[in-house]
Amino acid sequence: MSKVVIPNFKLNNGLEIPALGYGTWLGLNEKGEFIVEDAPKLVDALSYAIDVGYRHIDTAHLYRVEPEVGSVVKQKIQEGVVKREDLFITTKVWNSEHRPEDVEKSVKASLRRMGLNYLDLVLMHWPISVSAEGVDEKIDYLDTWSGFESVLKQGLVKAIGVSNFNVEQLTRLLANCQVVPVVNQVEINLNLGQKELVDYCQKNNILVVAYTPFGRMVPSRLDTTCPAIRHDDPIMLDIAKKYGKTVQQVALRYLYQRGICSIPKTLTKTRVVENASIFDFQIDDADVATLREFDNNYRTVRPVFWQNFNNYPFDKVNVDITEIPLSLRKWKNGANLDID
Ligand code: NDP
Repeated sequence: MSKVVIPNFKLNNGLEIPALGYGTWLGLNEKGEFIVEDAPKLVDALSYAIDVGYRHIDTAHLYRVEPEVGSVVKQKIQEGVVKREDLFITTKVWNSEHRPEDVEKSVKASLRRMGLNYLDLVLMHWPISVSAEGVDEKIDYLDTWSGFESVLKQGLVKAIGVSNFNVEQLTRLLANCQVVPVVNQVEINLNLGQKELVDYCQKNNILVVAYTPFGRMVPSRLDTTCPAIRHDDPIMLDIAKKYGKTVQQVALRYLYQRGICSIPKTLTKTRVVENASIFDFQIDDADVATLREFDNNYRTVRPVFWQNFNNYPFDKVNVDITEIPLSLRKWKNGANLDID
């Protein structure tokens, strides 16, 4: 079995986080339902990922797979592959749990579902708050953050952070918080470089974690109607060939060279190894400059149904979709009946 060695980044609270983690969002089908049938494949692939050397797992209440993640962790500890302290486990508090007291309930429920007694990191999934009925609750994320500070103080989690915050929201948070977030997890890939946001975070010692790190540059996400870079782009193929790597590895390495942590998701064992085999080459300055040119501010993850809600973090686009998928509001069709 090929092994991978993943270096760490340091967080602003002194703890370390592996520079590449395993993403666990299985996605929604065309009907907007959680893809429950992939959960057993996730158990298999995550188990393999830990065997080959992954130590960082990114999950969330929303993903409905906390029980599966917990079962894999338990199994790997029992097998003696890892100790709990070798792993860095992140989960997230969903938009319907933004009252400060609900943050604690949410974190405790995540711990119960995963069978853990602490989390390494818990994130506010979005700065917006939405009830299960799809109503904008307009809760100030500063109030929500006080709930995060409380779970940190109680020792339920080792670090707290945010996700999908823009510069303005982070600036306001930093001016009003007691504990600075250790990370901001946002979409970053070749098409969405987020230079201003990354510069802001790095200046303020907040680690940037890139979700959807491939954007549309994988066959499963190909969309020929948009200006996103394709996995068979000739420039990418040339650069990849030069380093003896795949285009996906070049995309992840580029993020690493920008000082950004990434959390690619794959259920395919060969890709588990491929995605983490990026720490043995260096993209040169000329190629970095070429890769930078792909940035065209194209977003893959754009929840337009929330765009009129308080604290929606992205620019608005001219579409009229207001219906929020049921699975982003109610805990139906979880992979495990334990999900609530
Ligand atoms: P990714 O950019 O990780 O892409 C996942 C897709 O790429 C899957 O279809 C996978 O296929 C495919 N893939 C993975 N590796 C390769 C490869 N080497 N070659 C070709 N195809 C590949 O997207 P995600 O949206 O899943 O983002 C990653 C993680 O980020 C999530 O799983 C989640 O943990 C987190 N996230 C957080 C969000 C937030 O709001 N905070 C929002 C979205 C994601 P296959 O599985 O079939 O191999």
